[in-house]
Amino acid sequence: MHAARADRIRTTPLSFAPPALGDEERANVARSLDTGWLTSGPFVAQLETELGEYLETPHAFAVSSCTTAMHLALVALGIGPGDEVVTTPLTWPATANVVAQTGATPVFADVDPHTLQLDPAAVEAALTEHTRAVMPVHYAGHPCDVAALETLCARHGLYLVEDAAHAVETRVDGGRKVGSIGDATCFSFYANKNLAAGEGGALCVRDDALADRVRSLRLHGLDRDAWKRYEKAGPGAYDVIEPGYKYNLSDLHAGVALGQLHRLEAHHARRAQQVALYDEGLAGLDGIEAIGRRLADGARHAWHLHVVRIDAALAGADRDAYATALAAERVGTGLHFLPVHRLTWYRERNRGLSLPHAELAGSQVLSLPLSPAHSLDDIEDAIAAVRRVHARLR
Ligand SMILES: *Cc1c(COP(=O)(O)O)cnc(C)c1O
Repeated sequence: MHAARADRIRTTPLSFAPPALGDEERANVARSLDTGWLTSGPFVAQLETELGEYLETPHAFAVSSCTTAMHLALVALGIGPGDEVVTTPLTWPATANVVAQTGATPVFADVDPHTLQLDPAAVEAALTEHTRAVMPVHYAGHPCDVAALETLCARHGLYLVEDAAHAVETRVDGGRKVGSIGDATCFSFYANKNLAAGEGGALCVRDDALADRVRSLRLHGLDRDAWKRYEKAGPGAYDVIEPGYKYNLSDLHAGVALGQLHRLEAHHARRAQQVALYDEGLAGLDGIEAIGRRLADGARHAWHLHVVRIDAALAGADRDAYATALAAERVGTGLHFLPVHRLTWYRERNRGLSLPHAELAGSQVLSLPLSPAHSLDDIEDAIAAVRRVHARLR
């Protein structure tokens, strides 16, 4: 079926997740340079308005990254020393790092062995009297089990803070938009994400008072309205209501993000086509299987990553051997993720913690090239390379 390209080896490298940028992004950057408005300005304001509409949320704040969005969310929710936040080990270290940076303790619960999403039953078992929040990831762009986590959070009086770095386009069961659900939802505009601005992110919150605190904490804890309350103060006056952060987004990045937002749905359709091609082209290969999906009515996958699991006993070699062999075929891959509780700082603080599903997945997962910048022929090349490597290693 894929024999036509099976013996063709790429002459140019196929990267794992290059950005797909266009004329609008280019024009917006040029405009920022022409007007001289480089820091947060008109593009940030427009991005926040349009993102709020797209994400179906009352408050969308553009910030410098998903990492700063998550830190800001936890601080604004009052999470700090003595508190615990339950999260998934199958994430980029940022998710746990920000918890530690508030002085709280990240607590890891295992993932569902099929979807690799945070398992609500494991979260329940990890709760203590100190737990204040649950921080799931919509891993790969597949919705996590939001309904069960919402119920759990409501029952125990916990905040739901979502790491939605992979999930700009994601909808959960019943069609609700990620960004409109949790107490805080954090998005990434990092260079290899679905909405790629190089760097950047967004924090969505639903509560008006929380939004006021986020608005101030995002920029030094300034109270921009302070001068209005003092008749004698000049227009440049300002006040600080608590020591805040420097987490705002530049207009250069916001201009790129806006262009990306405008092509997001078209890009999503290309991603879906590429995943369908992988599903067909890699079907039936012993020991290579796409991670499980469980998409109920109304749910939507963002198709951020196409992750396969390599079962060494069946596939003839382990994930690392496959990644090396694919690199030799000029096909780039990614690793999402090494379980965070096995990384040095976390391992030293979680001695004896065993999360078997995440640990097995961490040794097996391999992300294949997926990007709207790729053509379907590019994906056929990646499929042919995987099939060649499989035939050789098995
Ligand atoms: C990329 C990523 C982040 C961090 O995003 P930045 O915008 O680079 O801070 C956090 N969590 C997950 C799951 C990610 O993939």
